[in-house]
Amino acid sequence: MATIRLHDTRSAALRELMPGPGGRVGIYACGPTVYGRIHVGNARPFVVFSLLKRFLEHEGHDVTLVINITDVNDKIYDAARPLGVPSAQLAAEMATHYVADTEALGLGRPDAEPLASETIDGIVDLIAALIERDCAYAVDGDVYFRVRRDADYGSLSHRAVDEMNQGEGIEGAGRKQDPLDFALWKAQKQGEDTSWDAPWGRGRPGWHIECSAMAEQLLGVNFEIHGGGNDLAFPHHENEAAQTRMGRGAELAQIWMHNGMLQLKGMTMGKSLGNAIRLHEVVDEVGRDALIMLFANAHYRQPMLFDDERLAAAAAQVARIRDAARRLADGDSPADMRAHRDAFFAALAEDFNTAQALGVLFEWVREANRRDERVGRADLVEMLTVLGLENLLEAAGAAGPEDLELLRRRQDARACKDWAEADRLRAELAERGWTVRDGPDGAELVPRDA
Ligand SMILES: [Zn+2]
Repeated sequence: MATIRLHDTRSAALRELMPGPGGRVGIYACGPTVYGRIHVGNARPFVVFSLLKRFLEHEGHDVTLVINITDVNDKIYDAARPLGVPSAQLAAEMATHYVADTEALGLGRPDAEPLASETIDGIVDLIAALIERDCAYAVDGDVYFRVRRDADYGSLSHRAVDEMNQGEGIEGAGRKQDPLDFALWKAQKQGEDTSWDAPWGRGRPGWHIECSAMAEQLLGVNFEIHGGGNDLAFPHHENEAAQTRMGRGAELAQIWMHNGMLQLKGMTMGKSLGNAIRLHEVVDEVGRDALIMLFANAHYRQPMLFDDERLAAAAAQVARIRDAARRLADGDSPADMRAHRDAFFAALAEDFNTAQALGVLFEWVREANRRDERVGRADLVEMLTVLGLENLLEAAGAAGPEDLELLRRRQDARACKDWAEADRLRAELAERGWTVRDGPDGAELVPRDA
């Protein structure tokens, strides 16, 4: 089995992935807080970790991907209030939208999508363990984590303890024993319409403890990979790690993977893309193929530039693969093209470099196009499947300019009654995957399998 190395934020270095018994790899990636339709940027961790799962399965591992849905949160209360709807109703509606919006990416579902609201028992249990170990304290129905009890606090996001601000503002400031402490449980306040009973009073969980509990419930502790956007490294992931370390005496995860942010800089609003930056609008506008191709073009750790120009380039790459696919044959690829396929998977094994892998894939396509004989497609199917783009090999789709030129020449040949040439061009089109259908409005190309 190939050695796979991934960048671990905590050790600030590449670390070898060490699967559990039977090749088990647990991945937990932080999902959205459901208070509105998700932005195209929110789709990046969903795409990165769905593709990572495909790659690890290709390498023979038994992967469980968990992407949670945060459905109890201040942002949801704040969004529901002006709408005059119960916060639980807004969260349920937006969770349904989130599932549909990500479903349209065509990458399948994660193995589990836990809801915070359905993990309250696990959350209460972990908070109780922290209080028991004197790592947390209850004040007026709130519970706070005692940051200075954790000697390793700051080791994930590489910050000195005194430079850390939990971002909780003045909320709870008077009840915290130390400004560094953060909330595990918040007593129910006026205007908050969801709450649960707990030994220290009725209220609801803080955001960070939700993820520690959901991850533990589905993957145990010390699982293989914890992921999310790099904006979550502090305080969210630092706090998740601290809670589990102090409450369970174990690290939450072995490797902490962080994807870069999506940047909309340079985007020309009001043109082809319009103002579409919500995921469902982008998918409607450009299609899932170009969007997945755009994600695959960037190394997951780098910021990803998102604009019309890059989307157009990704759409052109999609067309190139569709075009090439029409000239391929079923079955094994030539042995002397195997090096491209191997280099593709080697690039993914070294910190999941989809950008480099895609470059290699296009070398394979160029080589296949260069050859006189029709090349077997097996290696290309294998590579595209890991990138979530296997559907590009399906027969459907519009004819390319070269196909249309052949069709035009066939019509000219028929007009000149050059039947031999017309037949030759029909055969050439057939080899490219097209049947010529003559109809009352002239000839058109339809995919051969249709
Ligand atoms: Zn989280």
